[in-house]
Amino acid sequence: MGLMSWAALATARAADGARVQALKITVLSTMLADGDELGEWGFAALVEVDGHRILFDTGAKTDVVLKNARSLSVDLTTVPDVILSHSHWDHTGGFMTLRKSVMEKTPAALAHTHVGEGMFYPRNSGVPRVKDLSMVALKGEYEATGGKFVSYTQPVQLYPGVWLTGPVPRKYPERNWSGSGRMTTPTGEAEDNLPEDMALVLDTAQGLVVLTGCGHAGVINTIEQARTAVRPARVHALIGGVHLFNAKEDTLNWTVEKLRGFDVDNILGAHCTGIEVVYRLRADLGLDRAHAVVAAVGAKFELGKGLDPRTIAK
Ligand SMILES: [Zn+2]
Ligand SMILES: [Zn+2]
Repeated sequence: MGLMSWAALATARAADGARVQALKITVLSTMLADGDELGEWGFAALVEVDGHRILFDTGAKTDVVLKNARSLSVDLTTVPDVILSHSHWDHTGGFMTLRKSVMEKTPAALAHTHVGEGMFYPRNSGVPRVKDLSMVALKGEYEATGGKFVSYTQPVQLYPGVWLTGPVPRKYPERNWSGSGRMTTPTGEAEDNLPEDMALVLDTAQGLVVLTGCGHAGVINTIEQARTAVRPARVHALIGGVHLFNAKEDTLNWTVEKLRGFDVDNILGAHCTGIEVVYRLRADLGLDRAHAVVAAVGAKFELGKGLDPRTIAK
């Protein structure tokens, strides 16, 4: 890319600068639940932003997000976009059930799915190792219903102020994944470090709202990518799973130090963040009960109002 186009790009970014005005994020799958909802090891959330409705991840079991959406009166027939943060089963399990539940009434509902490059790499699993082609199969099944996948290698602005990080550069060796999986990439077999893992970033006047599935790229790498791709603002809210539930003491200390530099205002810690880790982050980042809570199914974050954790997590 020449000088002119870099300049043009910089101008486009500066002129861009769109901020999200209205934002509500509702958790549809995580471990903790009360009321009529079901908990599970998984994650899903509905994002409502300036009139756009986006489903972020789809839970683990085939029917839990469907049931929770019904019990929470969330209408998924009016949601065109899906984001799958990464290929793990606990984020993709409800995907086809949900698509099938809406497509007859509204063919365009849940028909447009955004993923990071690497989503469909065959994985090797088990002993003896067999090629796991479940994501490849899911792609075929979805496309047969008229659904379309869009795969990203770079950050992208989906709507004004609504960004996907794209695959996250692994600047720091956070190594935030199990370490046992292998995958087949176009250049050969490698450790499965979930190269497709990406987060949704909402650019608000109060700062960035970062929504992660498991955060396998590392929560710090993910926030750094958000600050590079969108703007170097404070983190108004960190929401979702960041896979620190089993992190060692030094990892937690290092993560807290780095998070301090991002001025995090709110944490809604779901799924693989770990319950103990949410309390640890609350204490170490000087937050209180109103600003750092464990997410329950139905928990909400609303721009201007903050966190509503539901009864069980209050
Ligand atoms: Zn997960
Ligand atoms: Zn995962």
